[in-house]
Amino acid sequence: MTRAHFGLIGLGVMGENLVLNAERNGFSSVVFNRTYSKTQEFLSTLGSGKKIEGATDLEDFINKLERPRRILMMIKAGPAIDSVIEQISPYLEQGDLLIDGGNSEFRDTERRVAQLERKSFGYIGMGVSGGAKGALEGPSMMPGGTKASYEAIESLVSKMAAQVEDGPCVTYVGPGGSGHFVKTVHNGIEYGIEQILAEAYDLMKRLAGMNGNEIADVFGIWNATEELSSYLVEITEVCLRQKDPFDQETGLVEKIMDKAGQKGTGLWTVVSALELGASVPTIYASLNGRVMSSMKDQRMLAESILKGPKSISFDMGSIEQGMPLLMDAVVLATMASYAQGMELLRIASDEYQYNLHLPSIAQIWKGGCIIRSRLLKRIQDAFNSNPQLVNLLIDPWFADQVNCRILGLSKVVAAAAENGVPVPCLSSTLDYINSYRTGRLPQNLVQAMRDCFGSHTYERIDKHGSFHTEWLD
Ligand code: NAP
Repeated sequence: MTRAHFGLIGLGVMGENLVLNAERNGFSSVVFNRTYSKTQEFLSTLGSGKKIEGATDLEDFINKLERPRRILMMIKAGPAIDSVIEQISPYLEQGDLLIDGGNSEFRDTERRVAQLERKSFGYIGMGVSGGAKGALEGPSMMPGGTKASYEAIESLVSKMAAQVEDGPCVTYVGPGGSGHFVKTVHNGIEYGIEQILAEAYDLMKRLAGMNGNEIADVFGIWNATEELSSYLVEITEVCLRQKDPFDQETGLVEKIMDKAGQKGTGLWTVVSALELGASVPTIYASLNGRVMSSMKDQRMLAESILKGPKSISFDMGSIEQGMPLLMDAVVLATMASYAQGMELLRIASDEYQYNLHLPSIAQIWKGGCIIRSRLLKRIQDAFNSNPQLVNLLIDPWFADQVNCRILGLSKVVAAAAENGVPVPCLSSTLDYINSYRTGRLPQNLVQAMRDCFGSHTYERIDKHGSFHTEWLD
């Protein structure tokens, strides 16, 4: 009996598309899903006529795979992963390898890598980004675990991944849970950019009184620029042009409830940043934007009680020119999201000894994934030309962008404030940049207060050592 090259557990939207991708790339596959009827349905529809067979149970699944086995789990993150590991472990043999391609918490992955490697099985925690279409046509993949485990799946994942000019969008990320950590930060950056684009839409609608098509035109213009050309800007234009199927006169976006959830990775990015002392205010603002959005009833009540400032007019520039002031703001906030994400990766890499190679991470995000953009080439170049770069914004090309666009960002944030329009990501970015470029911040006074009430001591700028003053005598 010929055994399959590759096994997949979990026929959700991602699993289905990934197995079709593997098969298209020459890897015969066997699939298992907890609910067998889903396997049958898949094999009689999308999987029909392909080198994909189904398994009724895990023993059958294992027996249909060539050794050493390469098994991708594409299931709900959390306890489901531990449960599948427990059920499949009795059938595994030395050298077999499990890959968790879901959005698992990186510390869970650390634990599972250690647990499986102890038993001489391989375990890879692999972030996968690209949604259903990316999974089918070529996603960005972020695998972490031992180097030997990665080498056992390299031929498979390099064929399945998106391809860009300098290779496939997959690389060995690092040990332990590093692959899932990188995916988490990818999603944090994604949260940031989505919120930034939503704020730009809101400003065009509320301050400039533009309709959906006019706003879409601006996103179309932005998508043709080096600074903003990206998948998220592209789909923003698409979303804004979509008409309501029940009312062809109105854009569908205007009929969608203004509540966004947050599934875990955005929160984990912010929690990790706080734990590691990394500053990610633009990303945090996007997470909080979603939290505020979910408080719909309270916001509706407060709208009738709390008054904002009186409206003033503000000219953001012409539609044909792509509203240059607003573009300044969106470009800098987008760059800040990437800068904060990359800085978090740099700090985590030191703390967790992941030895992350930031140019390679920028490279594997250039295709397939949700945050793919032309800017990532600049990010890759910046970290290649200066491996010690502590923050993207002080790379010469990015610094020029900040210096040229900071006035535009400042004017947009000021106008939003004067009109009472919330722009959490844009305003956080402005504060982030202004704090970062200020050599002397007012935390000297904070230190004085802390020493005054709690004898916490302070350092001086002109003498070495730790000082305490009896302030209240
Ligand atoms: P999903 O809806 O997250 O999960 C569905 C799959 O998980 C089904 O096959 C389901 O089996 C299985 N499952 C759930 N609980 C299980 C358990 N206790 N034991 C065994 N199997 C169990 O599917 P998805 O959207 O394809 O996502 C899969 C993973 O990829 C998730 O971690 C997700 O966060 C991540 N991800 C998703 C996307 C996306 O765009 N959707 C993108 C990147 C990453 P049954 O059919 O039996 O219920």
